[in-house]
Amino acid sequence: MDSLDFTGKVVVVTGGTRGIGFSTVTAFLERGATVVLFGSREETVAKALQKLAESHPGAAVDGKWPALTDAMAVQTAMDEIVKKYGRIDVLVNNAGISQSQSIYDYTPADFDKAMDLNVKAVFNGCHAVTPTMRAQGGGVILNTSSMVSLYGQRSGCGYPASKFAVNGLTKSLARELGPDGIRVNAVAPGVTDTDMVAALPEAYRKPLLAAIPMRRFGGAEDIANAFVFLASDMAGYITGAVLSVDGGIVM
Ligand code: NAD
Repeated sequence: MDSLDFTGKVVVVTGGTRGIGFSTVTAFLERGATVVLFGSREETVAKALQKLAESHPGAAVDGKWPALTDAMAVQTAMDEIVKKYGRIDVLVNNAGISQSQSIYDYTPADFDKAMDLNVKAVFNGCHAVTPTMRAQGGGVILNTSSMVSLYGQRSGCGYPASKFAVNGLTKSLARELGPDGIRVNAVAPGVTDTDMVAALPEAYRKPLLAAIPMRRFGGAEDIANAFVFLASDMAGYITGAVLSVDGGIVM
């Protein structure tokens, strides 16, 4: 059997309505998984499901829109998934917001925003699924970090700080959950051509491209492929890793 075959597996992807998350949903569906995508609003979830119904008719995909920063809401959503599908094999904590404003314009509320979604929501997801994964004999948690978790960035300081924290959660939970058969890894995307990057000013995009040896921004599918590999049995001895998928960028 193809070890990248996810038939019979249940995969949850947060921030699954567009960008890296949507490509990740698609990649798992194409390998036979049942996928539940999370989005921030009912309308964007419905739109993503409609798009998938057209591109992948008959695919086993469902959607939910819990407030990821609300631990109870996340727990309820995961419980509903377990009730309906019986298990959760893979959780991809992908939803996140980026920031680039200078410290002189940066507010404490901005800092809270980055920490709430990029860190607390990741914790909430991990916290909600680990009892299920332990009870079923194992599972995989994957987190979306960033290249800035290695270098920091020149502005928008809360964003890299939040991704350093994602790496900390990844490495710590890998150590704690390994004995329960739960692997925990992160992918650190480089500059990936999604809405998030399209929103960056041209003056910001140009020097970024020059710093990438492969001379192209990443595609969302490049990151999705890394998630599929890390979720698969082929990565069965990999845990606590932060895998850079960044075209070799040197900042
Ligand atoms: P995107 O803006 O295209 O998508 C973000 C996703 O997060 C969407 O599905 C959105 O619904 C969800 N989301 C945003 N705010 C939310 C909220 N408050 N509650 C619930 N969901 C919310 O971004 P993307 O580029 O696909 O980014 C996905 C992840 O990749 C993020 O964690 C981001 O930090 C990380 N990342 C992206 C890049 C890049 O270059 N695009 C680089 C490094 C890391």
